[in-house]
Amino acid sequence: MAVIEPIVAIDLGGTRLRVALVDTQGSVVRRVAEETRSEEGPERVAQRIRDMAQGLLDEAGAAPPMAVGAALASPVDLEGVMHRPPNLTGWQVVPFKSMLAERFGVPVWVGNDANVAALGEHVFGAGKGVGDMIYLTISTGVGAGVITGGRLLLGARGLGGEIGHMIIARRPAPWQRAPASCGHIGCLESYVSGGAIARRAVAGLREGRRSSLAELSGGDVESIEAKQVFQAAAQGDAFAGELIEAVGRDLALGLASLIHLFNPRKFIIGGGVSRNWAMLEKSVLDELRRQAMPGFLDDLEIVVSQFGDDVGLVGAAALALQEIGAGTGPSSGHERGRLSPADKR
Ligand SMILES: [Zn+2]
Repeated sequence: MAVIEPIVAIDLGGTRLRVALVDTQGSVVRRVAEETRSEEGPERVAQRIRDMAQGLLDEAGAAPPMAVGAALASPVDLEGVMHRPPNLTGWQVVPFKSMLAERFGVPVWVGNDANVAALGEHVFGAGKGVGDMIYLTISTGVGAGVITGGRLLLGARGLGGEIGHMIIARRPAPWQRAPASCGHIGCLESYVSGGAIARRAVAGLREGRRSSLAELSGGDVESIEAKQVFQAAAQGDAFAGELIEAVGRDLALGLASLIHLFNPRKFIIGGGVSRNWAMLEKSVLDELRRQAMPGFLDDLEIVVSQFGDDVGLVGAAALALQEIGAGTGPSSGHERGRLSPADKR
């Protein structure tokens, strides 16, 4: 079926740049991906996005897009300005929304990728019809988007929802040799992100723990990745199993703070680590039961995102649709979940 007026959805990550045409039902119709190559600088990347989108529109024989939405791996303020994205080399303060608007000539909305993903889940995914939900992404880092009372929580400058930087410990953990790239010691991300899981494994092996991870890493212990830790645990390795259990308990400390703050109905877990959610689930739930105050776990559901890698694209489309008032979700409309003000055009 030909797309008449699609949404152009953009997911700008630290390593991958995805651009897609998405219809008003949140289905990805056509897509293209490249390496981000952030070292080329924001202007070049913005132009490549424009060219990638034009390629898709030409292929589809589509009219110019209704609007453009973008999920950006960066803190993003209410004006659509990125602030020192840690994974986009050399980018400082970047008015990326304006850069895209100049090139597309149609309304553009941008937001932090985890916030945008939360909106995607809320409008089209597991959070449809759920007014109080939290999307949590656990991969290289830990991010989240909080929907409360049917609205995306943004905070005064639009920077809210940075759950990965909740401080859960005052002292550095044994595997933390230096403050994380965020400057913190003891934030949730430094305990449960993919990178943290790997660092915890390396620290354990250096302390002399015996584990099949030593062979899995081919003798290069420093090269261990989180997915190998899950793999070893799945194969019955005792050290890896204990480590995953400890990660689950630490993650539950973060979730416990969130349930007491926001009393959500649903957590939706995404990101690379969510592929192994089944292995984390038991210790997360055990620890949550220990930490939760009465009533907070009633009706609480924890599910894994069904969108996989597409969650940013679907969310970017949801954001654009919502802002132009064409969304299909329960929170569609102009006021809700606003990530950046409408273009004055
Ligand atoms: Zn931090």
